[in-house]
Amino acid sequence: MILRQSQLFTKTTKENPKDEVSTNARLLMRAGFVSKVMAGVYSYLPLGLRVMEKIKTIVREEMNSLGAQEILMPALHPKENYEKTKRWDAIDVLFKIDGANNKELALGSTHEEIVTPLVQQYVKSYKDLPLAVYQIQDKFRNEARAKSGLLRGREFSMKDLYSFHKTAEDFEEFYKKAAQAYHRVFERCGMNAKYTAADGGVFSKFSHEFQVVTPHGEDIVFSCGNCDLHTNKEIVSADETCETCSEPLESTKAIEVGNIFPLKTKFSSAFDFTYTDADGKEQDILMGCYGIGISRVMGAIVEVHADEQGMVWPAAVAPADVHVVPVGDSEAVMKKANEIAITLSDHGKDVLFDDRDERPGAKFADSDLIGIPVRIVVSERLLEQNAVEVKERTAAEPTIVSEAEFYSQWGM
Ligand code: ATP
Ligand code: MG
Repeated sequence: MILRQSQLFTKTTKENPKDEVSTNARLLMRAGFVSKVMAGVYSYLPLGLRVMEKIKTIVREEMNSLGAQEILMPALHPKENYEKTKRWDAIDVLFKIDGANNKELALGSTHEEIVTPLVQQYVKSYKDLPLAVYQIQDKFRNEARAKSGLLRGREFSMKDLYSFHKTAEDFEEFYKKAAQAYHRVFERCGMNAKYTAADGGVFSKFSHEFQVVTPHGEDIVFSCGNCDLHTNKEIVSADETCETCSEPLESTKAIEVGNIFPLKTKFSSAFDFTYTDADGKEQDILMGCYGIGISRVMGAIVEVHADEQGMVWPAAVAPADVHVVPVGDSEAVMKKANEIAITLSDHGKDVLFDDRDERPGAKFADSDLIGIPVRIVVSERLLEQNAVEVKERTAAEPTIVSEAEFYSQWGM
């Protein structure tokens, strides 16, 4: 695939947007990945949407590997379901709206009230369990503060998974597998997420958050310098030490990119959702829920990797694999750059091609801002040597290689 910058309807800007303080929002907006509609609400533009779709693909692959089945539930919810769970007034961020015929509705902030009666329609006996379903969808939350760009949206993309079990052992086994799948998701997205105990008891009684350490995080995580224990602020007092090895705990700022928690029978009992066992007896159903903030992950990747010049995308989620940048206004240069773009594309690479009539300085600045992992420069001088300049976004200096050598580096 070749994305020609001359055709891209979005433009980059040098100035930071007014009224955005976060690094992720500033860079994503300057590079034309997203556009702000109002606080906490963004449009995703061609380059940004490509990143988002790549994150979703990774998440889907890992959720499918758990045997979970993908569904899509509605964003518009009836009040009745929340009356059953007593959450109509308990969820403080719930957007409530007046529907036709005096019907009260909510915009989904999470989907336990929809998924529980949905699965209940199909699960009757012990033979129907265990079961896990997930969706990727926009969630709506009337957040008090939405100043962190994609990290805290009022409309944002979330993957939510729900699991249904006969026994606590079965639930715990699934919970552990889900945690491993979560680690794989964040690793593939180029981030190291700390498995952090959050409100509740210890270890198996805990819910868990996946926290990415960065100075721009809204959360505080306490970590033991000696073992792998991480815990969030709500359960730690200032002078507390690690419960495993008594070392002092160090606090760091972090972004919660995902969390998993045991729901026990909270929702199944609210809907009288039970199953009949092999002896024909009615039994409780245990549930778990597991969330990943897809758009928050996108913002977190920017926060973790950005440098002074702009964004730095890990290859797996970058909007393109290679940025082909011809400089100067010679026809031969443009012809060669076009040829390289086509060859890369024919070999299955996604190419961003800067075919605009722009000064080299402007092209390089935009290239650094957009942050494609590898940049190939073609110029008249390089053409004379039958060479190209290759620069990895994370490298300090470019290297000059022959065209043949460049292709062989890419296994062509
Ligand atoms: P937070 O503590 O950050 O408010 P939460 O604990 O309410 O989030 P969940 O309801 O468990 O979050 O949602 C699952 C995941 O969705 C979170 O781990 C986070 O990655 C993401 N998320 C939650 N709220 C937002 C938001 N307002 N904008 C973007 N992502 C969000
Ligand atoms: Mg939280």
